[in-house]
Amino acid sequence: MLALQGDFREHAQVLRDLGASVDLVRRPEELDRLDGLVIPGGESSVMDKLARTFGLAEPLRAAIRGGLPVYGTCAGLIMLADTILDGMNGQQSLGGLDIAVRRNAFGSQTASFETDLDIPALGVKPVHAVFIRAPVVETLGPRATALATLDDGRCVAVEQGNLLGTSFHPEITGEYRFHRYFLQKLVVAAR
Ligand code: GLN
Repeated sequence: MLALQGDFREHAQVLRDLGASVDLVRRPEELDRLDGLVIPGGESSVMDKLARTFGLAEPLRAAIRGGLPVYGTCAGLIMLADTILDGMNGQQSLGGLDIAVRRNAFGSQTASFETDLDIPALGVKPVHAVFIRAPVVETLGPRATALATLDDGRCVAVEQGNLLGTSFHPEITGEYRFHRYFLQKLVVAAR
């Protein structure tokens, strides 16, 4: 669990409820013992600065390139995107997902909203999704797959191999299926 900033406590609770053992990561050496990493929601520009200040950005990039399973929500999705649109001046991502993500894509008028999404990969029950100053996936490259779209067709959940990203926050709604889906990737990757 990347614990530089944001709602990592909520994620850690969901993961522990699902039986995972969770370490909070703030230093490069803490990356070594991980089977997977969750990057929480928060503020991606701050997370980026902290990751670089603590010397975590490069080791994280290397871990992602090496196949570490990573799940990013909201700001975490922005961190995983190869390209950030409307980033702060000089903002960098870790990359990994073959997508372009637009920050704060719903504008200040619609800072937050909730909706139900059909996500066949997670079963028939719709996912109740909470969006908070959320990004959208504006472009998907050939290596990335859309898992969920809004009614207007905009992509808000994406998967690419061991990487998973959502614009919204399952960790605050009692929605455990994304984390369970992610933990399955860790089990397969550890084989
Ligand atoms: N707007 C934030 C960012 O740019 C993301 C908001 C969130 O994580 N809830 O990082």
